Amino acid sequence: MDKLKNKVAVITGGNSGIGFGIAEAFKNEGATGAITGRNQTTLNRSVQALGNGFVGIQGDVTSQDDLENIFQKTSETFGKIDVLVVNAGGVVDGMPMGPISDVTEEGYDRYMDLNLKSAYFTVQKSLPYLNDGASVILIGSSAAHRAAPGMAIYSAAKAAIISLAKGLSLDLLARNIRVNTLSPGSIDTPVFGKLVPEARLEQVKQAWIDIIPIGKQGLPSDIGKAAVFLASTDSAFIVGTEILADGGMTNIS
Ligand code: NDP
Repeated sequence: MDKLKNKVAVITGGNSGIGFGIAEAFKNEGATGAITGRNQTTLNRSVQALGNGFVGIQGDVTSQDDLENIFQKTSETFGKIDVLVVNAGGVVDGMPMGPISDVTEEGYDRYMDLNLKSAYFTVQKSLPYLNDGASVILIGSSAAHRAAPGMAIYSAAKAAIISLAKGLSLDLLARNIRVNTLSPGSIDTPVFGKLVPEARLEQVKQAWIDIIPIGKQGLPSDIGKAAVFLASTDSAFIVGTEILADGGMTNIS
């Protein structure tokens, strides 16, 4: 119950799906902190659902100014930051992933900006505010290991996240800041609604379930529990590595 007691966390993209599941799990373990997102309506709703101890800070993670503001405001509100979850990412608005023949240079750049560049600068902008001894969790994806149709750019960006966690862990060793990647497999979140039309949603989810050895999609709470482990001192000896939470899809399917 108290694995994160007195810890202050920032969870980017905490107003939806996996990010909200992580925020709930952190709250259940005694943490307080900030969730972020661009959509003020879902941000308000999520903060209300979390109850006391969490604030919502609006911001676009591809904007350096917004990132600066997120950490400055969290620090002003809570006085410190112990845990950073770099979760915002996934599908670029109005630009579903697709095969190479359909991808424009702008589309390529926007996917890389959202899923790789923003992760790097989220960590960089947090550093002046992050406590020594902090835990940084980068949300990767099983897509880094297992190809799926039309997802090459996203997969490449998420594969680079794993390297980022290694390199940043080394860079931040002197401050005892651990950086790890937590890579979800197929998790039931609103992202599927951004990828496929409503009429095909159940069919697409079933296609994922068919390749997940334990026979079901994960829930945001499954990722939340793994994030609690990486955020807490239980994982103090785990540095610069990746934990896959994918129902066995990467390694045994
Ligand atoms: P959702 O679409 O439910 O959530 C995405 C979150 O990211 C939202 O909170 C959204 O908030 C935020 N976000 C998106 N773009 C931006 C932006 N430019 N600036 C700030 N925030 C942004 O997806 P999931 O919960 O499924 O995905 C969360 C993470 O998990 C992503 O990194 C994704 O790649 C990863 N993942 C998901 C898997 C899955 O099966 N669901 C599998 C593997 C990895 P807002 O729109 O308000 O800005």
